[in-house]
Amino acid sequence: MANNNKILHIVGARPNFIKAAPLIKALKNQPNPCEQLLIHTGQHFDSNMSGIFFNELNLPMPDINLEVSGGNGLQQLSEMLIRIEKPITEFKPDSIIVYGDTNSTLAGALAGSKLSIPVAHVEAGLRSRDYTMPEEINRIITDNISSYLFTPSEDANSNLTDENIKKDHIYFVGNIMIDTLISSMKKIDQSLILQNLNLQSQGSEKIIPYNILTLHRPSNVDDDESLATLLGAVSNLPPLNPIIFPVHPRAEGRIRSITKNINSNNMICIQPLGYIDFLCLLKNANAVITDSGGIQEETTYLKTTCITLRSTTERPITVSKGTNTLINPNEPGLTELIRDAIDAAHSKDSVIPDLWDGKTSQRIVDILLK
Ligand code: UDP
Repeated sequence: MANNNKILHIVGARPNFIKAAPLIKALKNQPNPCEQLLIHTGQHFDSNMSGIFFNELNLPMPDINLEVSGGNGLQQLSEMLIRIEKPITEFKPDSIIVYGDTNSTLAGALAGSKLSIPVAHVEAGLRSRDYTMPEEINRIITDNISSYLFTPSEDANSNLTDENIKKDHIYFVGNIMIDTLISSMKKIDQSLILQNLNLQSQGSEKIIPYNILTLHRPSNVDDDESLATLLGAVSNLPPLNPIIFPVHPRAEGRIRSITKNINSNNMICIQPLGYIDFLCLLKNANAVITDSGGIQEETTYLKTTCITLRSTTERPITVSKGTNTLINPNEPGLTELIRDAIDAAHSKDSVIPDLWDGKTSQRIVDILLK
């Protein structure tokens, strides 16, 4: 970008905050820092889905909060677009940076491109090819209207060139979530969450083996019957280790009533955790069962076994190189499938993908300021 005196970041949801934190910091630490403005769309607003990440990751408080929450995806997107125009035209940024695949990502990219402001997409090029996933639509549109596509892995570059996106717009910079993870490692190792959840006694090295469960994709949580089957299958996993289940607000009420009705004494439902405590749990878990995107990557970096309850992933490198295994949650015999996959994964050699090294944000800054 020729002129980058003013950079506008648009975030709105938990994974956006985690991805934006290292880049905002790296831009601030340049010898000639540019002016940065941070807009929070309001998509996630609870303190444990939003505020805590600003504190723990030293993110500056948002300059503007658009307070768009609730409603379905289309209502959210339309409201964000309506409310975002004024702050953009007033700030007059030289570029807009958006992160990941949320509705806030798409709103920021659409607004920027309509207002003829170059858009940079961090975590470009990921494709699940599952067009029923709202995030897949967000990814495809965002990439196709962005000027700078910062990819986390080389498969993402191929996805973009297959869509005829010009090669000179694509930059393989690595995984920015791993920047956040590496820079937080000291705090993660100091977390007391294992003691707080009675998984480790004070002063003891021994950790009770436990699994983690996270679910929030509509395909898994929107239908009560399949959700009950899924929760039943996971809670029956031998040898009935405790399952720590931070419940996403998207399905909280229903999940709590379902877990009461199934025999799930080993399932410990808790509020969503802050980043530091959650990463400490991920690092020390026997296995993680999830439908999250980011958790597939973090477990690959931490070498923790990950079972992704989906039939596709936009992050295939976590399967081919990392610790991730996909399982279709609609398959019969789910408990046995998960058990066997955990056993197989424990003896699999995994490697950390290229450029997942904590230096992604600096690579982006170097490109943006060149
Ligand atoms: N995460 C967290 N607390 C939790 C659950 C997840 O901090 O209780 C973090 C997780 O480590 C990862 C991010 O939230 O960094 C992933 O967010 P989510 O699964 O909501 O979104 P996705 O990655 O699927 O877009």
